[in-house]
Amino acid sequence: MSLIKSRQEAIAAATQWRDPVPAPGVDASPARLEDIFGSDVFSERTMRERLPKDVYQRLMRTIKKGEKLDHELADIVASAMKDWATERGATHYTHWFQPLTGLTAEKHDSFITPDGAGGILTQFSGSALTQGEPDASSFPSGGVRSTFEARGYTAWDCTSPVFLNRSGANVTLCIPTAFVSWTGEALDTKTALLRSIEAVNTQAMRILRVFGTDAGVTRVITTLGPEQEYFLVDRNLYFARPDLMTCDRTLFGAKPPKGQQLEDHYFGSIPPRVLSFMTEVERELYRCGVPVKTRHNEVAPAQYEIAPVFESATVACDHQMLLMETLKRVAPRYGLQCILHEKPFAGINGSGKHNNWSMSTDTGQNLLDPREETHSNMQFLTYCVAVIRAVDLYADFLRAAVASAANDHRLGANEAPPAIISIFLGDMLSDIMDQLEKGLPRTTKKGGRLDLGATTLPALMRDSGDRNRTSPFAFTGNKFEFRAVGSSATSAWPMTVLNAIVAESMDYIAGQLERALGKNIGDPKKVQSAVVAVLGPIIKKHKRVIFNGDGYSEAWHKEAERRGLPNMKDTVEALTAIKSKKNVDVMVKYDILTRREMESRYHIFYEKYVKQVTIEAETMVTMARRQILPAVQMHQRRLAEAVAATQAADVDCEDQRSELESFVEKVCRLMKATDALDGLLEHHDADPAHHARFIRDKVKPSMSDLREIVDDLESLVADELWPIPTYRDILFIK
Ligand code: ADP
Ligand code: MG
Repeated sequence: MSLIKSRQEAIAAATQWRDPVPAPGVDASPARLEDIFGSDVFSERTMRERLPKDVYQRLMRTIKKGEKLDHELADIVASAMKDWATERGATHYTHWFQPLTGLTAEKHDSFITPDGAGGILTQFSGSALTQGEPDASSFPSGGVRSTFEARGYTAWDCTSPVFLNRSGANVTLCIPTAFVSWTGEALDTKTALLRSIEAVNTQAMRILRVFGTDAGVTRVITTLGPEQEYFLVDRNLYFARPDLMTCDRTLFGAKPPKGQQLEDHYFGSIPPRVLSFMTEVERELYRCGVPVKTRHNEVAPAQYEIAPVFESATVACDHQMLLMETLKRVAPRYGLQCILHEKPFAGINGSGKHNNWSMSTDTGQNLLDPREETHSNMQFLTYCVAVIRAVDLYADFLRAAVASAANDHRLGANEAPPAIISIFLGDMLSDIMDQLEKGLPRTTKKGGRLDLGATTLPALMRDSGDRNRTSPFAFTGNKFEFRAVGSSATSAWPMTVLNAIVAESMDYIAGQLERALGKNIGDPKKVQSAVVAVLGPIIKKHKRVIFNGDGYSEAWHKEAERRGLPNMKDTVEALTAIKSKKNVDVMVKYDILTRREMESRYHIFYEKYVKQVTIEAETMVTMARRQILPAVQMHQRRLAEAVAATQAADVDCEDQRSELESFVEKVCRLMKATDALDGLLEHHDADPAHHARFIRDKVKPSMSDLREIVDDLESLVADELWPIPTYRDILFIK
C-alpha cells in the first residue's frame, strides 16, 4: 500500500474496502475446530506419539515437576521436534523471548548444516534447543550490563509449549525462552514471572498443609485469563495520521458530535469486515493452541475485545504476547490497523487488559473458589484474606506495575479504574469479612447458611454486576480481576508483582497459623479457631482497602484519602514505588528479582516514559508545522481574500473582518505553542527519573496547550482543507 498523503485520498480509499471474495472453486467452508486447535503446537500429545516412552516420561517430569533436563534427553527431544517442524514446512527455529521492551524478540537460525558433499543435512541439537546466545547489547538492561558485555543467554522454558509461527511461505519453530545476562540477571519479563510463580507455589502449599488438604497435591499454580481490548481502524486513514503511525495514538483531534454517547456500539453486531478479521485471528491462534473464546464490540466506536479461556500464568502470558502480535499481523490483510494503545482517542474510552487471576492446585482445585464445604471455606477465606492484606500493604507496588505513559491517560480519567488501588469484594463477601473480623462468621447475608455454598454466588454476581466496573481489583466469583493493566502492556510484570506480594502475605499468614497450631497442623477440628484468631486482626488492619462503591466518584477520592490509601496519579509518581525498600525487599526475599534487577527496572521504566512522551511531542511539533499550519494558513488566506473582495465591492464586512482577526490570533497562538513545545525538547537529563519529572511538569502541559489550539482550529477550518483524517473519519468508516 502506498503512503497516502491527503485526507481526501485516504477517505476515498477507506470507503472502497470490499471483503475479499473467495476465488471460484475454493472451499470456503470452515474446518472443524477440533482439527485446527493446536495443530501447530508441539503438544503433550505430539510428544507422547513421537518420543520413546521413557524419554517422554522424563520430559514430563521436567515440565511438571521441574526435574533437571540432561543433555542426552535434550538431544532426543530436539531431534523429534525438528522432524515434526520440518514435516510442516519449517526451515528455521528461533528462541522466542520477551525483553524489557515489552515486546517479543526472535532471531532465526535455519536447520541446515552442509553435508560436505555439496548438499545439506537438517540438524537441531539438544544444546540448540535448550540454550541460545543472541547478541543482546541493544536490549534495555537499565544499567546491569554495558554494551561491551553484550552476552545474553536464552534458556528454554519447557513449561510453555513450542509452536510454529507462520507468515506467508515462511514457517519457523518458536521455542519460548527466558532471557538473562551472562551474569545471570533477568533481562526479560519471563524469568521473574517464573520465579514469582515458584514463590506462590511454596507459600500456598504451606496453607494447604495447615488445613490438611494437601494430599495428592504436588504444586500450586497461578492461573491467568487476560481480556484484551483493542481498536481497529482503516489502514488508509491510519497512514494519513503520522501520530497514529508513530505513537499508536492520536495527538490531535476534535471531539466528533457522535462519540459513544448513544452506547450503540457496545455488544452491538460486529461489522462484517471486523468479523472476518476476528475469524482469521482466532484460526491462527487456535493453530498455536491459544484458547480464545470470547469476542465482542466494546464501548467505544471501533473498539473490540478478545478473551481466552484461562491457563497457567506462564503459558497465558506467552499466549497473550502471541495474541497481541497476531492481532497486529492479521489486521492489514483486511485493510485494517490494530491499535493496542491505552488511549488512542481523547474523549473516548481507552483500552485495558483485565487480568483474571487465581491460584489452583495441580489437581485442578481453584483455591479462590468459595463453593466448598465449611472447613474449606475457611481455607478459601484464608487465601482471600492473604490477597486483601497483600493489596493493602503493596497497593503502591501494584500501581507501579501498571504505570506507563500510555496508561496515564486511562487510570483516574473517569472511565477506567481509578489510580487508587482498592478491592471490590461485593456485599456478601464483605459482610462475611466483617463477621470474621469479630469472630466465627455465622451467616451469609440474605439468610443463607455460613457456607459460601453455590447459592451465594449468583447473588454475589447479581449484587456486584453494575458497580464493580469501577474497581481496579475486583473479586469476580472465583478469581480476582486486576483491571488497571493497560491494553498494550505485557501481563507478565503485573502478574509477577501480584504473585510476589500474595506470596509474602501467604507466608505471613501460614507462619501465624503454623505457630498457633503447633502439632495440630492439618487437624480440621483445631484449624477453624486458629484461622478465626489469625484472620480477625488482619482484616481489621487491612479492610480499608475494601471498597464496593463507585470508584469514579469524587467522594471516593476523599474517602480514600481519609483511609490513607495511596493515590499515585501518574507514572512519574507511581514508579517511585519500584525503589521503595518494602517493595524491593519483597522481591529479594522470595528470590524474584535482585536489588540490581529492581534498580534496572526502575531505570528502564522511567527511560521508556521519557522516550515515549518525547516521541509524541516531536511528532506533534512536526505535524503542527508541516501539516496543520499550512492548512490553517490556506484557510486564513481564504478569509482574507473574502474580506478584501467584499471591501472592494464596497459592502460592509465588519463581522467578517473581526472573524479574520480572531482567526489570525489563533494562528499566532498555534505558532507560539509549537515553538514553545519545540523549545522544551532541547532539555536533556542523564537521570531518567529527573527527566521524567521535567516531561510531566513542563512538556506534557505544553503538549496540551498545542493540542487545545489545534483542536479548536479543526472546528473552524474548511473541511476540505483539513489535512489529516478526523475522529469521525477514523472511528466511523468501517
Ligand atoms: P467476565 O469478566 O466478562 O464476566 P468471565 O467471568 O467469563 O468474564 O471471565 C473472564 C476471564 O476470566 C476469562 O478469560 C476466563 O477464562 C477467566 N477466568 C475464569 N476463571 C478463572 C480462574 N480461575 N483463574 C484465572 N482466570 C479465570
Ligand atoms: Mg471481566
